Amino acid sequence: MKDGIVIAEAMHGEVRIHAACTTQLVEEARIHHTAMPTSIAALGRVMTVTAIMASDLKNKKEKVQAVFNGKGPIGTVLAQADGSGNVKGFAANPNVYLVRKDGHLAVGEGIGTDGTLTVTRDMGLKEPFTSTVALQSGEVGDDFAYYYALSEQVPSVVGVGVLVNPQGKVQAAGGLIYQLMPKASEETIEFCEAAAKAQRPVSELIDKGTDLEEVIRTYFPDANVLAHRDVRFYCGCSKEKFMDSLSALHEKDLQEMIDDGKGAEIVCQYCSTKYNFSTEELKEILEKKHRVEDR
Ligand SMILES: [Zn+2]
Repeated sequence: MKDGIVIAEAMHGEVRIHAACTTQLVEEARIHHTAMPTSIAALGRVMTVTAIMASDLKNKKEKVQAVFNGKGPIGTVLAQADGSGNVKGFAANPNVYLVRKDGHLAVGEGIGTDGTLTVTRDMGLKEPFTSTVALQSGEVGDDFAYYYALSEQVPSVVGVGVLVNPQGKVQAAGGLIYQLMPKASEETIEFCEAAAKAQRPVSELIDKGTDLEEVIRTYFPDANVLAHRDVRFYCGCSKEKFMDSLSALHEKDLQEMIDDGKGAEIVCQYCSTKYNFSTEELKEILEKKHRVEDR
């Protein structure tokens, strides 16, 4: 199934629903970071919910960023998504492979629970909107549900999952979020609670090839589809951009690197692409810096 997000409403507009298939996106992140199963499951879940959050942005340049800091072995897990469907992210330690007793990947243990989830919404205004909540289980879905309830006052059910096959590849990934709109009736609230109890892992449905609209109608038969959005793994880094960050370094540090004679290697943290700068290139950067500063 192709990656994408479907936005819908149900129960006379009292419930808003997002369903996402992110299999290719998460698999691409896995390849970029050569990530192990628990690390990619954690990163994939965070990227999926972040992509869903960004799918509501009106402007293509607006951004959403989510950062988990739970002091588990995976360390920081960060995802960023923009209004045009570009998603990127990283797990500080991509080499974690922890399994629970029931055979599932131990995402909660990997991320840890001693810490926070911080969501930043950059709407292109002067100050981005940032909100931090305490982690609940480190399983990602619960933590985002808590964030929605506390920071945005929106009661939400967040289902998100990544299925990794025995070869270590991402076989299916996706999410299903439904949220109660203000003034939702008692009947709607009860219906959503029942749906949450009946919910099967969304990655399982996606693995079976269930279409996203069908995933939504499994729980909300009266759902009305509002929009389709594309999502993809895209970093957007380039050698030129890293050249700019090198020229922002202190002259003394650049000179040291030049004297060292080994050149410089910069690894993009969002996509693990390596950029090499020769001593010659470093000299050019320093000379250019001089020219700019002499002006
Ligand atoms: Zn990059």
